[in-house]
Amino acid sequence: MRLVAKHAQVGYLTPGQRPGCRNCKHFEQVRHDSPVMAARQACLKHELEVTSGGICNDHQLRRQANESQFAYLTRQRDLLERALLDQRRTPQVRETRP
Ligand code: SF4
Repeated sequence: MRLVAKHAQVGYLTPGQRPGCRNCKHFEQVRHDSPVMAARQACLKHELEVTSGGICNDHQLRRQANESQFAYLTRQRDLLERALLDQRRTPQVRETRP
């Protein structure tokens, strides 16, 4: 089986494809000219510093350059479906009190 087909079959996502601040429409990265200063990564919605791998409940995919509205909405739907499946598969841990 070809690798690409296998990836699609198992729902494989690279780190950049997984939902996170890095691909959220509210994410902003500002690079400095200085070689010693790290890029500033911020959330424009919540006005706070974030890391590219972080995520919150308000994540919304950023539309990619040259991506059609249909392809964008399909990608958003696929991510939501995957998150719903993950939620159903994850056993709910309940705290029991004596
Ligand atoms: S904190 Fe939430 S809304 Fe802000 S960039 Fe990250 S995922 Fe998007």
